Amino acid sequence: MRFPPLREELVGLAPYGAPQLDVPVTLNVNENPYPPSAAVVEDIAASVAAAAAGLNRYPDREFTELRVALAAYLSADSSHVVTPEQVWAANGSNEVMLHLLQAFGGPGRTALSFAPTYSMYPEYARDTGTAWVAGRREQDFALDPVHARDLVLEHRPSVVLLPSPNNPTGTALPLDVVAALCEAAAGPDIGGLVVVDEAYAEFRRAGTPSALELLPSLRNLVVTRTMSKAFAFAGARLGYFAAAPEIGDAVRVVRLPYHLSAVTQAAALAALRHADELLARVADLREERDALAAWLAEQGLEVAASDANFVLFGRYADRHAVWQGLLDRGVLIRETGPDGWLRVSVGTPAEMAAFRDALTDVGAAVM
Ligand code: PMP
Repeated sequence: MRFPPLREELVGLAPYGAPQLDVPVTLNVNENPYPPSAAVVEDIAASVAAAAAGLNRYPDREFTELRVALAAYLSADSSHVVTPEQVWAANGSNEVMLHLLQAFGGPGRTALSFAPTYSMYPEYARDTGTAWVAGRREQDFALDPVHARDLVLEHRPSVVLLPSPNNPTGTALPLDVVAALCEAAAGPDIGGLVVVDEAYAEFRRAGTPSALELLPSLRNLVVTRTMSKAFAFAGARLGYFAAAPEIGDAVRVVRLPYHLSAVTQAAALAALRHADELLARVADLREERDALAAWLAEQGLEVAASDANFVLFGRYADRHAVWQGLLDRGVLIRETGPDGWLRVSVGTPAEMAAFRDALTDVGAAVM
């Protein structure tokens, strides 16, 4: 017998994760480049200190105060009120997705998404014993609504995962496509959920509405968010969703008791009190993204339309050589997405200047 007695389907697999390298300019995991201000750090530290005094006790298993604060935040980003009963949270939207697949996936069930898409989705499916089906995207990474609907009808998924904006392409989905897929997934013999993963929603361009707008009319819609990106809070690990309260009740059955520590709850509440300040840089990052996309296009590169805080560009005959060339010049980006493409996160103006200089230098060497 093999030791340790690993599940057959996990044998030989490497854990997911981008390289964590000590490089001057890190633009590889779509982080927010702006750390919290001294005032925010102080408030978080004071809140965590107060929570520390009660760490002999388990935390509020229902994270009631946090759900109230998250509901208020989402209500401000939508034309409808989101109530605390509609909100669920976990350690990053990664854990939120896992909860959803634990509750609604499983053996004999299918999760469906459209490639290229977030590379963790097939892992959540694998880890929950859920069958994984990936449809395709168009040349410009948009969804073909007819193809998408046909796949829903063919595979009858219990969960459809629709990131919007999508990672790694940055592409946002029109709401009519989301609504049509919700209706298809809700059909007889299917009864599936549609999860719109809005990890990057705050970076969307003006005129791109959030799927939160559809919540009141679509019972099988789940909209997930994270504090990792726009809130500059990736290190704290806080993701959440809004959906019909029955969906949260189902997820409660599979979550670990006390999954959100008192420290996490206190830190997230403190950060939410400073939402305006933390989100103030989002507009700068959006502008920086648009300038980056324009500059890449000027270099004669293909650039995917982005509503996120990163840009997918290409195509290179040898993208690894370009990635390595940038790394050699102190700039770490991500070798991901379809063959020939690379993804760069939006950083500070100084970081973007370093990226442009390095790419110009590498371009001359490898093109
Ligand atoms: N969804 C998408 C589309 C992402 O790109 C990411 C992070 N890269 C996540 C979810 C997970 O983010 P977190 O767990 O930090 O909330």
